[in-house]
Amino acid sequence: MNRLIDGKVISAAVKERVRNGVSELNAKGITVGLAVIIVGEDPASKVYVANKKKACEALGIISEEYALPENTTQEELLNLIKELNAKKSINGILCQLPLPRHLDEKLIINSILPEKDVDAFHPVNVGKIMIGDYDFVPCTPAGVMEMLKYENIDVEGKTCVVIGRSNIVGKPMGMLLLHKNGTVTICHSRTKNLKEICSSADILVAAVGKANFVTADMVKDGAVVIDVGMNRVDGKLCGDVDFPSVSKKASAITPVPGGVGPMTIAMLMQNTLTAAKRQNNING
Ligand code: NAP
Repeated sequence: MNRLIDGKVISAAVKERVRNGVSELNAKGITVGLAVIIVGEDPASKVYVANKKKACEALGIISEEYALPENTTQEELLNLIKELNAKKSINGILCQLPLPRHLDEKLIINSILPEKDVDAFHPVNVGKIMIGDYDFVPCTPAGVMEMLKYENIDVEGKTCVVIGRSNIVGKPMGMLLLHKNGTVTICHSRTKNLKEICSSADILVAAVGKANFVTADMVKDGAVVIDVGMNRVDGKLCGDVDFPSVSKKASAITPVPGGVGPMTIAMLMQNTLTAAKRQNNING
């Protein structure tokens, strides 16, 4: 391995940029605000929400947390979102997923104003990503692109393989690599010859959700390997990539933990700042 791509260092650089951006807006009398809604008691979701709040506080972003009980009705949640859509001091709205089963996730996401949808899950934002004219990108693939940029890894003309086709990671990841002129293949559970396809990749992104799924025989010598996976094995966090063997072949690789994970919150902060700028007609 030539290089370890350090998500802690890169996310710190993104956060520093956001902190400066927030200060510049504050100097103009503009505040930046993020509302985070959580419904129910999912322990993992609670940790994510607490981390988002902490990141906001560190960067000067005002965070409002709405912790609603498990039995919240659809109407109550939609009313809250309507209120936050209209609230001037709130620039971004995030509804922590998954929602309890009695709530219609699609309907809830669609009710957030696209210009406040800092997760970029609203169909309008999804469509904008498709045509390459976007302000927000889902935070995890946005974080991966930021890592490639920071490391001066040029995507143009490269063979890029993404394993996973979820709406929040795999699909937008493929589109972002395509917009940077990569030649992209998106693989999934029905893909045939996965090993051969992965072995052709100059840039391989794993977003599968299976520990140690990507082994050295699936990786080309000198490939850049990005591990999005977050899996628990015996309570220990690990990625989708078998790091010990793959890191010997890769020219650059992200670790887990300390790779893509820290980027996700940093990009959420970035999207919130962008939302505040757009809503106040400030370019950049
Ligand atoms: P997901 O919705 O479960 O999608 C997993 C994808 O992997 C699916 O497209 C699935 O294919 C594909 N897949 C499953 N088994 C496969 C196989 N044997 N061969 C090829 N493809 C296979 O998961 P996700 O939300 O995209 O997340 C993926 C991973 O990233 C998870 O570990 C998650 O925890 C992690 N994650 C990390 C962050 C972060 O901040 N670092 C953020 C989000 C997610 P089908 O579509 O055919 O089922």
